[in-house]
Amino acid sequence: MKEFDTVIVGAGLAGLTCGLELSGKGKKVLLLEAEPVVGGRTANYSLGGMEVESGFHRYIGYYTTMPKVLRKAGIRLNEIFTWEEKIEIRVKHDDKLVTLGLAPLFGPLKLISGVLGNNKLLSLRDKLSLVPFFLNGFKDYALKPKELDKMSIREYAAKYGVREDAFHNVVVPLSTGIYFLPPERYSAYVFFGLLAPGIPRLFKLRIGAYLGGMTDVMCRPMADVIEKRCGTVMTKQKVVKLLLNEQQEVIGVETHSGEKFYGKHVVVATTLNSAKQLLNVPFGKHAWFQPMLKLPMMPAAVFQIDLKKPALRKDITTFGPRTSMASFAEQSRTTFRGRPGRLSIILADPEKFLPLTPEETLEIVLRDAEALGMHIREDVLDYRKIDHNYDFHSLEPGYNWMRPDQNTPVKGLVLAGDYTMQPIFATMEGACISGVNAAKIILKRKNPIRRKSQEGYI
Ligand SMILES: Cc1cc2nc3c(=O)[nH]c(=O)nc-3n(C[C@H](O)[C@H](O)[C@H](O)COP(=O)(O)OP(=O)(O)OC[C@H]3O[C@@H](n4cnc5c(N)ncnc54)[C@H](O)[C@@H]3O)c2cc1C
Repeated sequence: MKEFDTVIVGAGLAGLTCGLELSGKGKKVLLLEAEPVVGGRTANYSLGGMEVESGFHRYIGYYTTMPKVLRKAGIRLNEIFTWEEKIEIRVKHDDKLVTLGLAPLFGPLKLISGVLGNNKLLSLRDKLSLVPFFLNGFKDYALKPKELDKMSIREYAAKYGVREDAFHNVVVPLSTGIYFLPPERYSAYVFFGLLAPGIPRLFKLRIGAYLGGMTDVMCRPMADVIEKRCGTVMTKQKVVKLLLNEQQEVIGVETHSGEKFYGKHVVVATTLNSAKQLLNVPFGKHAWFQPMLKLPMMPAAVFQIDLKKPALRKDITTFGPRTSMASFAEQSRTTFRGRPGRLSIILADPEKFLPLTPEETLEIVLRDAEALGMHIREDVLDYRKIDHNYDFHSLEPGYNWMRPDQNTPVKGLVLAGDYTMQPIFATMEGACISGVNAAKIILKRKNPIRRKSQEGYI
């Protein structure tokens, strides 16, 4: 009963993708998830009586692996996403709103009017100052990636003379708005690396907002397919130890309750933080693991507010540069239908918010919301702060090379997770790519470890 072809630790998107791929090939898989629900950083769940999500997510139209994975799980994109052809940028202490179209195929007029319009906020000189910045950035991304990863996006923008308004209203939403880090700490390589895959697929560009909690509409259905194919998905099963044989090959895992599960392959598909804890004991001195064990991590913090009425006229991805509200959206007509009003906010500079109480955070957010023209103080019904303590690998300059491959030199051990080496950084697409890669490695590996005795495989 406790022997499997592959044991996968963690049922976030990376682990679920790997499980889906392997079970599709007839492999007997076991997924062990520490939390009560599957989905990891894309999960939705109830927190003290309020329905919350790990953080509001957007599907980017240029993703290629994730849609394939979802289709394999029988999930239709049009049923779980509503499509946005533009984004909004709110300006502090100003009632001006920048509306930027981003879908050449699905909303060409919005795109053209976005680029040519918004003149009060971005003068022609501001817009022109972005041209050498973007052209050189994409060139350096292709030709000098290591050099680019030595600079922050603040330094790179200064190098190419990006004007202050263009920097705050375009570069900051595309950096801090996505990954919470101040621009002084945000790698220029990550900035252009996230945009570059969109160029050849520009025609596909648009944004998908979820029509429901992500565990409900995406992750649980993926787990259900794995189970229908004779896989097993167990929640509330925190893995505390990797089991090794005398040859230092990984043969299974042990959970917090002392249960042992064995597999010919073990995929560690957790966050970087958990992976470090699991790998440090057996492989702390192994040269291959050194860079990943030293790879720094960064947090995220999210704030969600139930409101008496919608905070914004539309549910649309919105950015609030120069405030705590890095990016946010009203969600009462999309992800949290049925709520009278619902705001989900990714907090800029999360380290500042981790030590704060929800009440202290609410006060800062309400003040910033006011400054961005949203008068919601009287409408607050309930709120929650969700901290992601060091769930991300650091996207600061100089660290990208330290990310590990999915294939490890240790027999029986494969890695997956958004922090492992794949081109789309810490995204759902990146997590899916890592899961597909992990499954391919397992399917290709010759002479998998076979069980010999209770504690040993050869
Ligand atoms: C606030 C926020 C906003 C985001 N916005 C976007 C976005 O708009 N677009 C986008 O593409 N991406 C976005 N992301 C990133 C995206 O969510 C992640 O890149 C992706 O979900 C990572 O998946 P993963 O499987 O690698 O890791 P995770 O989802 O973290 O999964 C790891 C799993 O392992 C489990 N685990 C850990 N330790 C153990 C253990 N010892 N035993 C058993 N289980 C364990 C965890 O509980 C978790 O379920 C966002 C993330 C956050 C937090």
